[in-house]
Amino acid sequence: MDKAELDDAISTLAQQLRGAVESAKLGGVEHLPRPVFKAPVVVTAPSAAATTAAIVADASPTASPTAPKRATLAIAPIEPNADPRAAIEMLLQSSAPAPERLETLRTNIIGACTRCKLHRGRSKLVFGVGNPNAQLVFVGEGPGADEDRQGVPFVGRAGQLLTKMIEAMKLSRDDVYICNVVKCRPPNNRDPEPDEVEACQGFLQAQLAIVKPKVIVALGRYAAQTLLRTKTPITRLRGSWQSYDLFGEAIDLMPTYHPSFLLREEMDPKKTRKREAWSDLQQVMARLG
Ligand code: SF4
Repeated sequence: MDKAELDDAISTLAQQLRGAVESAKLGGVEHLPRPVFKAPVVVTAPSAAATTAAIVADASPTASPTAPKRATLAIAPIEPNADPRAAIEMLLQSSAPAPERLETLRTNIIGACTRCKLHRGRSKLVFGVGNPNAQLVFVGEGPGADEDRQGVPFVGRAGQLLTKMIEAMKLSRDDVYICNVVKCRPPNNRDPEPDEVEACQGFLQAQLAIVKPKVIVALGRYAAQTLLRTKTPITRLRGSWQSYDLFGEAIDLMPTYHPSFLLREEMDPKKTRKREAWSDLQQVMARLG
């Protein structure tokens, strides 16, 4: 290209740029954001899965050169039926803040998950809500009809009772984290089946590893038995401290009744179960200090 052609090309580009700026102004845009350059610097590569995911350091030109680099996440979305283990492994090795890691888990790793048959009947996938740095996590078995509609765990009648139980502990739903063993509603509220739990368990483990709670409360027979890998009835499990093994680290776990069970007054005419559940939560409050 000679100089005249180069001048022509630059002039054309300048005109196109002016045109784009004028259109943006007409569209109400007053300021264009300053471009931020992020150079991907791979800080860890725990396995061959690095092809699907990368954790990058923040190379923003505005960052102080002496300040420690904050890891930000750049885990590319994976296929809805792909094996998520490698991406989860990288996610858990990142030092990015918990909210960012949970969001990456939700959007890029779980995504529109089709890894088990429960995806067929769901309206909305129910990930989890609450404080990403909570000391206390409640785990239920799976979403019900209201949760499936809204995409939020524990929002139906049982959810309202759970909210009251949390408030009786002098906490709010924003102080704790709430999630389920499986993220999609089992048909007719049946128990999740072993293959469904198996397909979904990595997501729950990742949530717990990111939130790092001091205490887990397992709500109901199914959640307690699944987390503890036991068949012991909830009536015998509840009220005594158990230990949940999260990648070799022991987390205190208190099994108690599911709020939907506590709502069945006919099963508990003397409110014995409600008193027992409150006693379980008092133990949790004491453990949390
Ligand atoms: Fe995926 Fe879990 Fe939903 Fe099954 S229950 S489709 S594994 S998110």
